[in-house]
Amino acid sequence: SAGLMDGKRGLIMGLANDKSIAWGIARSLAGAGAELAFSYQGEALKKRVEPLAKELGSDIVLPCDVSDMASVDTLFADLKDRWGGLDFVVHAIGFSDKNELRGRYVDTSRDNFLMSMDISVYSFTAVVKRAAAMMNAGGSCLTLTYYGAERVMPHYNVMGVAKAALEASVRYMAEDLGKDGIRVNAISAGPIKTLAASGIGDFRYILKWNEYNSPLRRNVTTEDVGKSALYLLSDLGSGTTGEVLHVDAGYHVVGMKAVDAPDI
Ligand code: NAD
Repeated sequence: SAGLMDGKRGLIMGLANDKSIAWGIARSLAGAGAELAFSYQGEALKKRVEPLAKELGSDIVLPCDVSDMASVDTLFADLKDRWGGLDFVVHAIGFSDKNELRGRYVDTSRDNFLMSMDISVYSFTAVVKRAAAMMNAGGSCLTLTYYGAERVMPHYNVMGVAKAALEASVRYMAEDLGKDGIRVNAISAGPIKTLAASGIGDFRYILKWNEYNSPLRRNVTTEDVGKSALYLLSDLGSGTTGEVLHVDAGYHVVGMKAVDAPDI
């Protein structure tokens, strides 16, 4: 893939540490020659993100809390000053109160429902609108989703509802921006042990279940996700938009526990 992204510039949102899915994606893009900018949420993450950005040759590290539209506007205004244009954006952001990522979905509070939808769904729409305004034909936007959008998964609850809305928003924005030659896609990643995932109840059990029952009989890595992201964000994905690409070791095709699966 060396050279595939030469001359392309993109923004990575949602890098928290070297376990983040955003990190796997950023490494894959930088390895293919892309020039990257990063946004981080809150001062505490700045000192984590800066050295990682530097490792990939980037010194553009900007704050952005996606629950604050003024902060999103400032981010894209700064980026426009720096670069003028943009070729791709990666939105690897989601949030819900972890007290509601266990127990029953039906008990979700209105406040957390609205916050989860705001940060995990609306923010991608707000980001794509601003990114697309800086893009030419060939631009590509990517978000991250999970199979809990399509099927009931233990403890995923309000995040499953949010991811379903996120996937629908990918389809609507693909239509809106397709006329301009801009593509909008999502990767539905299998479970990966990250900071965000550690908030989900029984996450270790979910990891084991996927390892034993997915067709590839393993979990995916952030590197697996990075490679598929490179396809969707580069010219290799030129004919694909509105898609939810499963990078989950095939788990989404399975209908029943594998006969060789050990007890967990
Ligand atoms: P992570 O904790 O490394 O990343 C989540 C990021 O969201 C963090 O960088 C955090 O700062 C950011 N964020 C949260 N609220 C924000 C806000 N208000 N403004 C700006 N940023 C904010 O975890 P991750 O697993 O890499 O998560 C990335 C994406 O991948 C999320 O959308 C998540 O739902 C999705 N995903 C994760 C898995 C998994 O198993 N880890 C599976 C499928 C999809």
